[in-house]
Amino acid sequence: MDKQFIQNIREDFPILSEKVYNKELVYFDNAATTQKPKCVVEKIEQGYYRYNANIHRGVHYLSQKATEEHEAARTTVAQFLNAEKREEIIFTRGTTEAINLVAFSFGEAFCHEGDEVIISVMEHHSNIVPWQMLCERKGMTLKVIPMNERGELEIEAFKALLTEKTKIVSIAHVSNVLGTVNPVKEVIRLAHEKNIPVLVDGAQAVPHIPVNVQELDADFYVFSGHKIYGPTGIGVLYGKENWLNAIPPYQGGGEMIQTVRFEKTTYNVLPFKFEAGTPDYIGSTALAEALRYVQNIGLEKIAAYEHELLEYGTKLLNEIDGMRIIGTAKEKSSVISFLVGNIHPYDIGMLLDKLGIAVRTGHHCAQPLIDSLEIPGTVRASFAFYNTKEEIDQFVAALKRVVIMLS
Ligand code: PMP
Repeated sequence: MDKQFIQNIREDFPILSEKVYNKELVYFDNAATTQKPKCVVEKIEQGYYRYNANIHRGVHYLSQKATEEHEAARTTVAQFLNAEKREEIIFTRGTTEAINLVAFSFGEAFCHEGDEVIISVMEHHSNIVPWQMLCERKGMTLKVIPMNERGELEIEAFKALLTEKTKIVSIAHVSNVLGTVNPVKEVIRLAHEKNIPVLVDGAQAVPHIPVNVQELDADFYVFSGHKIYGPTGIGVLYGKENWLNAIPPYQGGGEMIQTVRFEKTTYNVLPFKFEAGTPDYIGSTALAEALRYVQNIGLEKIAAYEHELLEYGTKLLNEIDGMRIIGTAKEKSSVISFLVGNIHPYDIGMLLDKLGIAVRTGHHCAQPLIDSLEIPGTVRASFAFYNTKEEIDQFVAALKRVVIMLS
């Protein structure tokens, strides 16, 4: 992507021209949440100003229009992930709710005492705790795939963990701390050899690499709208139709029912069975707008440009004395976690902030990973396609100043 193209893109994101402490903002916290292009915010405004009405139940014009928009958004998401059927797309509040849904409903249908769930050492808390809760509820065991010193999954160890007791495997497509792009297709193939389904946490993948759920053969694939330039409070669960039909509803309420009698309730068909209550139909339509925005640029193009930023940033950071980059996998997304000497990551983050640079510090909701590395946390810079090499220069220059101050 050439400079002018990026400059034009940046104009779609008004927040990028904000000043913080009277300094130009450098926003490198994209793995936590991304900024929103004007078209997404305008879509939200349009939804509330032009066709806001509760969906699915109304006979009147506005309700039908809102329903059409929400259902069209479902089709956009299905196409984005290349799902076979639009009914396989369930709107949730985000990745976290989608994983909780599967951990609960799949657990109710298929899990029993003595069974096992496999996750990996680099999971976000959202892909740990719901499975631990399932394990506690059912008397099951959580198994953890280890990684090597570069932050890549140990596939041989994974093979050894797969047994007749394994009920489901749940792993991140991309690690939010290490940036590692996991070989999920291979993980799925190995699990499927033993008829074990796989959930892929795609929160950090969909904004950065093209995802095709049919090609991956993922049984469940989840992501959050806010990490892909969409609004907060909306996310997606993709599930293969046969799995979604085989597991019970997660929440009860309006919309997910066919008939309700005090004696017995029957449930609605997919996808409504999993969408109890008034859904976030404004959020879903704005998410669809964000996906169109990303698709218009092109995910292949985004991936290539962000890789350039990753390589550029990695090279410059490695020139700093005492630099230790955490996560050096061969396949890496645009996330750089690091430590400098013995300086606490929090101190670096605090001082960078005062220079206008937004990075994240701490355990990044992956405490078991941070503990396994025996470090206090990391400083994490994560790039999006609206970031530039000039911003990386600014960041590295600021970091050098900060390191001198703290050494
Ligand atoms: N999984 C991963 C890999 C993440 O990076 C995140 C967000 N940091 C989540 C899950 C949780 O996403 P959300 O808070 O949007 O539900």
